[in-house]
Amino acid sequence: MGLMKKTFVNFEQLQEITKKYPTPFHLYDEKGIRKNARRLKQAFEWNKGFKEYFAVKATPNPAILKILEEEGCGVDCSSLTELMLSEAVGFEGNEMMFSSNMTPPEDFMLAHRLNAIINFDDITHIDCFNKVADMPETICCRYNPGGKFLISNDIMDNPGEAKYGFTHRQLIEGFNTLQRLGVKHFGLHAFLASNTTSQEYYPVLAKLLFEAAVELNHATGAHISFINLSGGIGIPYQPGQEPVDIMAIGAGVRRVYDEVLVPAGMDDVAIYTELGRFMLGPYGCLVATAIHEKHIYKDYIGLDACAADLMRPAIYGAYHHITVMGKENNPCEHKYDITGGLCENNDKFAIDRLLPQIQIGDLLVIHDTGAHGFSMGYNYNGKLRSAEVLLKEDGSTELIRRAETPADYFATLDFTGLFK
Ligand SMILES: *Cc1c(COP(=O)(O)O)cnc(C)c1O
Repeated sequence: MGLMKKTFVNFEQLQEITKKYPTPFHLYDEKGIRKNARRLKQAFEWNKGFKEYFAVKATPNPAILKILEEEGCGVDCSSLTELMLSEAVGFEGNEMMFSSNMTPPEDFMLAHRLNAIINFDDITHIDCFNKVADMPETICCRYNPGGKFLISNDIMDNPGEAKYGFTHRQLIEGFNTLQRLGVKHFGLHAFLASNTTSQEYYPVLAKLLFEAAVELNHATGAHISFINLSGGIGIPYQPGQEPVDIMAIGAGVRRVYDEVLVPAGMDDVAIYTELGRFMLGPYGCLVATAIHEKHIYKDYIGLDACAADLMRPAIYGAYHHITVMGKENNPCEHKYDITGGLCENNDKFAIDRLLPQIQIGDLLVIHDTGAHGFSMGYNYNGKLRSAEVLLKEDGSTELIRRAETPADYFATLDFTGLFK
């Protein structure tokens, strides 16, 4: 038998849920979301100003954002519509971070009207912003150290090839300019590696940012009020992979805080995070039904879901574990490609996956779709995006986004008179 990965919902529950909501849909686990958010908070309890700004792009659903707000989180937005969504949910002022890039002026204007904390991606954005809005007293800047980002000699990523952030020299110049424009408090941000399950990621990144902060403080006299460690903490997509120990990560960041910031007299710096995947990934799954089986040169199971509902396997070859519900203990003796119905051969949730024998009508759970799942969906082949359902703490369910209908698909053609 293969390695097991448990679903947060059992077969009986799911049979009840699918009576109410037809597949496919993304299902979210309120209990898991809350428990995890509390653990993160606890891991950084040592830091007075700690706040997680959930990366809205990972799961832009108001019901999910509301749960996170209740757990004390803010939001990290990257676009006009994410700001609008967050405002509608009730986030205000410094509960909102605006970490955008290649930013249109209207996005800056809304971020400013909402008093969100602006995180500039580029030195030229200072001017762009200054043309359309008054410079606030607090500003964050995104740092790109260039070169390669290493953790104990392993290359984690390649910032020198990344489009984001200020160079080191631009940071000094930018901070000086911003001070002339009246900025009094600064934040420093960097996002150097994605889906990282190394426990050392945050501590190594924190050290780099803390040292830059000390240097910037010396070079420009700027007051650094927060360090934004951004996102990037990974989750165990593979069975048998260990989840990160968030308490150890919090302790690791504290160690470098005490080592670098405290001796520099900067012991009032708040730590912010902008996690997406870590906050939601494991607490969502895509529920689908096997609607076809096909045997040619390989054995295929066709689902009612497709890459339009979950793009990661198709674009990154990402692994998502699959459980055939009700057959959890059956031997995995059948090798299948599990596919959707797009006219694209990469529309496969799994390739050569060993699973129990699947019958048409079986319910399949595709794990870890809570972040960068629904939100990356698209309408290729005229496929309609699925519903989102919340499994609440008391075991009841709530539809938190209805499935798209053909009318939604045709909505952008409504001016033509063909689709009134
Ligand atoms: C995507 C993104 C995040 C969240 O990343 P995760 O990998 O989901 O943690 C945070 N900050 C910024 C600026 C991002 O672009």
